[in-house]
Amino acid sequence: MQNFDVDILVSGGGVAGLTAAAVFGTAGFRVLCVDPAPPVTERDAEGSDLRTTAFLQPAQALLEKAGLWARVAEDAAPLQIMRIVDAGGDTPTPRMVKDFNAADISDRPFGWNLPNWLLRREFMARLDELPNVEFRPGTGTKSVFTREAMARVGLSDGTSVTARMVIAADGRNSPVREAIGIKVKTTRYGQKALAFAVTHPIPHENVSTEIHRSGGPFTLVPLHDYHGMPSSAVVWMERGPEVMRLAGLPDDEFEAAMTERSCSLFGPLKLASRRTVWPIISQLAERMNGERVALVAEAAHVVPPIGAQGLNMSLGDMRVLLELAEAAPERLGDRQMLDTYHRRRHTEVHARVTGIDLLNRASMIESRPLRNLRAAGLNAIYSLAPVRKTMMQMGLGARG
Ligand SMILES: Cc1cc2nc3c(=O)[nH]c(=O)nc-3n(C[C@H](O)[C@H](O)[C@H](O)COP(=O)(O)OP(=O)(O)OC[C@H]3O[C@@H](n4cnc5c(N)ncnc54)[C@H](O)[C@@H]3O)c2cc1C
Repeated sequence: MQNFDVDILVSGGGVAGLTAAAVFGTAGFRVLCVDPAPPVTERDAEGSDLRTTAFLQPAQALLEKAGLWARVAEDAAPLQIMRIVDAGGDTPTPRMVKDFNAADISDRPFGWNLPNWLLRREFMARLDELPNVEFRPGTGTKSVFTREAMARVGLSDGTSVTARMVIAADGRNSPVREAIGIKVKTTRYGQKALAFAVTHPIPHENVSTEIHRSGGPFTLVPLHDYHGMPSSAVVWMERGPEVMRLAGLPDDEFEAAMTERSCSLFGPLKLASRRTVWPIISQLAERMNGERVALVAEAAHVVPPIGAQGLNMSLGDMRVLLELAEAAPERLGDRQMLDTYHRRRHTEVHARVTGIDLLNRASMIESRPLRNLRAAGLNAIYSLAPVRKTMMQMGLGARG
């Protein structure tokens, strides 16, 4: 049998790549993970990722299996209720409030929210514990050459590595995906998101609140208290120019604007971090695999941040890959395994990308009659208990 330097090369050390390295390392595979950008692991350092990730139930189970959950559980804020507020009337005030309660479908919360900068710090520490995993920050993938039996990856430090499987977790512009010629379909909305943390006098009580008016949702997701005050992570989506205007406002004017946009549901909001700006797109790769290569996370699919689907879908990719790898380790990365991976993931990912695209378009609506229609739609879904429960289970990924 041919010798390989590693079983798996993970290209990309974002949250998805680090998770993949821990998942496959814990399962006993020899893994090398590379990323040209050294991770920023302090909250207030320049370049820190101030987004948060709400890990839904199935994702939490995978983190547990990979020895990651124990490292972050203490910092995770539970999400018991998803509250949807329609504020699409003449003034920015709530005209319809609907609570989706996790207790209706399970005895556990929907998920748990964690800051991305902290995930990077703790996931890297987990990789350090695994003797069969190496993380090489500061080194990127430069070239990919594949044959039926193996992949050879050229790295920016001048070395090259042979692997049985390459996991492309190198983001929406994935160099691995481009090297092997897999095309993507991209949808642009002319929209951006501001991501930052706030404190507020009224406690969130483990409720995640999504407020719809126009331009995109304004979402507050619970965090642990910050400096003794209730705290939430905010994602505020608007048309691009409006986001850039908001990003440039002095703090006091920005705080007044976001308090108004939040319908003052938590009292006056106070900034508790920098403001970061993220472009919003939908994107789907034509295939989830190439020869000896599996695409995961944003390398395969990008969605607007609605319903905490992005990284949770990515962990869905890894769950399936791991299941296939463990069922037949000798076939790791071969055509049959990766074609099965593509078949099992692509249809579901496609459906989710399409569904979130529709929700985002509905959330952006400017016209009053259409906003009224949107509110009526929410009311209809909510009023029918079986539909409401099915929607919640689908959101979690517990139903396709
Ligand atoms: C505002 C906002 C809020 C969000 N909230 C949520 C949420 O609550 N729940 C959720 O599930 N999802 C959420 N998402 C989505 C989630 O953040 C993304 O899905 C996730 O961060 C993407 O991770 P990734 O590792 O695929 O990509 P990235 O974080 O982009 O990582 C890609 C990595 O690849 C590296 N790379 C680039 N070039 C190379 C190379 N040549 N070789 C090797 N590596 C390379 C980069 O340096 C980078 O570190 C949100 C997204 C946004 C924009």
